[in-house]
Amino acid sequence: MTDFSLALNEDQLTIQKWVHDFAETVVRPAAHEWDEREEFPYPIVEEAAKIGLYSFDFFANAMLGDPSGLTLVLALEELFWGDAGIGLSIFGSGLAAAGISGQGTPEQTMEWVPQCFSYENGKLGLGAYCVSEPDAGSDVSSLRTRAVYDEAKDEWVLNGTKAWITNGGIADVHVVVATVDPTLKSRGQATFIIGPDTPGFSQGQKYKKHGIRASHTAEVVLDGVRVPGSHLLGGKEKLDAKLARAREAGRTGDRQPAMATFEATRPAVAAMAVGVARGAYEEALRYAQERHAFGKAIIQNQSVAFMLADMATEIDAARLLVHRAAWLSRNGVYKNAEGSMSKLKAGRTAVWVTERAIQIHGGYGYTREYPVERMHRDAKIFDIFEGTEQIQQLVISRAISGLRIE
Ligand SMILES: Cc1cc2nc3c(=O)[nH]c(=O)nc-3n(C[C@H](O)[C@H](O)[C@H](O)COP(=O)(O)OP(=O)(O)OC[C@H]3O[C@@H](n4cnc5c(N)ncnc54)[C@H](O)[C@@H]3O)c2cc1C
Repeated sequence: MTDFSLALNEDQLTIQKWVHDFAETVVRPAAHEWDEREEFPYPIVEEAAKIGLYSFDFFANAMLGDPSGLTLVLALEELFWGDAGIGLSIFGSGLAAAGISGQGTPEQTMEWVPQCFSYENGKLGLGAYCVSEPDAGSDVSSLRTRAVYDEAKDEWVLNGTKAWITNGGIADVHVVVATVDPTLKSRGQATFIIGPDTPGFSQGQKYKKHGIRASHTAEVVLDGVRVPGSHLLGGKEKLDAKLARAREAGRTGDRQPAMATFEATRPAVAAMAVGVARGAYEEALRYAQERHAFGKAIIQNQSVAFMLADMATEIDAARLLVHRAAWLSRNGVYKNAEGSMSKLKAGRTAVWVTERAIQIHGGYGYTREYPVERMHRDAKIFDIFEGTEQIQQLVISRAISGLRIE
């Protein structure tokens, strides 16, 4: 275990600058166009692939090769500073990769994670992590997508519909959480890989969204999808043992597969929110210095300057929680609430700061001419996905009280 320190090493400073340069020169200039087009920004993700930012190597090194846990959150803050919709298009595959590496065997991880971040012969390979359903978002224990084992063929047969899936239907690798034994609720769930061009698997409706509109979000439908036994993450023996323990004891220490993945990724999602907040704050600071009213720059009014002071303070507070959570997560002393605290604080900060940024821009901030309008729409997602604001509060309140708060 390394000591907790906020000091960044040379490698981290280099990566931070490298991602910032890409965000500033490639991502930010493209943000408005792809937000308006509401399409997955293939050319921009390809640019990220060409420089190695969209790659298995970068993901593996940032996730696993860094004992401090800070490299990934530093990179995500810079990328999302550039734009959240494009940022999520570049890092949406990360959740699938985290799901595979968290639940899969080393062999499964080596086979499938690189395919979530591939770029070969000018073609991008993407990943999607499919948990949510039309009637099961926060309540992950109520998933209806069913996986049944066909012993004669050593195949799993999956049926169901997944909702709100980032990269859903356009990904090459879909990681699907399904129920194997509904009577065991979350303890009866398992995770499966659906590879490219699998019969019975299709994209449903594509959602038209409030923000992060460059990012692709869609339903996916599984209609008699058959996958080989080897596509069950962790393997059948491990699943059978888990189900047997759950049936015997009525309860096990095994975590829901989706919950374990979300816990690991919360600081990363919180870092994205900090990036959006910082982007809007910097726009507002610059605007307040340039815009004149009543014969002086508007920042010379205490009420405007104090707004900026509060924005800067909130962003720093959120970042400190993110860095703490990232370090705890990487060093195995994560107790869950720290990750939820970081996401709760960062999501709220992004929404609040982006709203204040519009206020400082006055009427211009309410138009699409200035990026703070887009940033405010983008920020709201951080209160919703990977656990809503209320679900983070639930996790934290249970951790601090030791009680089953409902
Ligand atoms: C753009 C976008 C991308 C997404 N990407 C993915 C993805 O890639 N993969 C994936 O699996 N999912 C994804 N999601 C789904 C997302 O995780 C869910 O929308 C989220 O978990 C909330 O679920 P829900 O929409 O069903 O809301 P609900 O669970 O129905 O919640 C509705 C409201 O009730 C509140 N609530 C619910 N239960 C409780 C409770 N026990 N206590 C207090 N309040 C409660 C919630 O906080 C919320 O305010 C995405 C969603 C969006 C919008």
